[in-house]
Amino acid sequence: MKKCEQLYEGKAKKVFATEDPNLCIVDYKDDATAFNGQKKGTIVGKGVVNNRMSNCMFQLLEKQGVDTHFVEELSDRETVVKKVEIVPLEVIIRNISAGSFAKRFGVEEGIEFAQPTIEFSYKNDDLGDPLINDYHALALNLATQEEIDTIKKMAFKVNEVMKEYFKQLNVILVDFKLEFGKTPDGKIILADEISPDTCRFWDADTKEKLDKDRFRRDMGGVEEAYAEMMKRIGL
Ligand code: ADP
Ligand code: UDP
Repeated sequence: MKKCEQLYEGKAKKVFATEDPNLCIVDYKDDATAFNGQKKGTIVGKGVVNNRMSNCMFQLLEKQGVDTHFVEELSDRETVVKKVEIVPLEVIIRNISAGSFAKRFGVEEGIEFAQPTIEFSYKNDDLGDPLINDYHALALNLATQEEIDTIKKMAFKVNEVMKEYFKQLNVILVDFKLEFGKTPDGKIILADEISPDTCRFWDADTKEKLDKDRFRRDMGGVEEAYAEMMKRIGL
């Protein structure tokens, strides 16, 4: 499988067409952004970590019955995926208070919820990915009620599988963002990436941050945190 024309360059990945109209190749970059692109930088080796870790997560999830876009890892940074029409919703699951949740509701970080929460942001950089509810998503024709119900069910399932998996690695899965896409025959599958860019990971003993918050908050040790996650996963 080889790359044809570039279809899109995002903040963290490039997407290329292939000879097969139903497949594309994603190429993970080391570019890092935060706060809707206002903060920019480089995390050396991030593209490799995010590509390999995402593929590992997608394969784990497939085994547990979650359909994903994963097809084949081509290299350290490149993967063949099923080309989907992305549902323009960022789906965020939280197990513990952190980040924008803590800020919005005026609570400390680290409060463990009795049950996970779900929220949607409208994926629109110009608007700064505003929070959106089911009714707004329906009004804007971003998805159907049936698709929203499927997405919610799949997102909670992803959480159950990943929470258990990371627990074994002595890592707490605090929160994460997922994106879903629609295949040409209308099926909803998990797409995009699952990585330290899109998840909050805390060491279970020390509560040390092992994710992009180290970059967002200028904490240092960013590359080391990404490398530590790779090591724990066994990659
Ligand atoms: P952003 O667009 O937020 O800057 P990226 O740099 O990660 O993000 O760019 C990758 C883009 O590819 C995203 O817009 C994402 O929604 C999209 N994408 C992810 N998986 C697929 C897929 N399987 N098919 C088509 N597009 C995808
Ligand atoms: N997230 C993401 N992309 C976004 C916004 C959030 O991957 O555009 C992830 C983020 O890494 C975290 C979770 O979603 O794991 C919740 O993020 P939050 O709403 O707390 O926002 P932030 O603090 O990142 O602004």
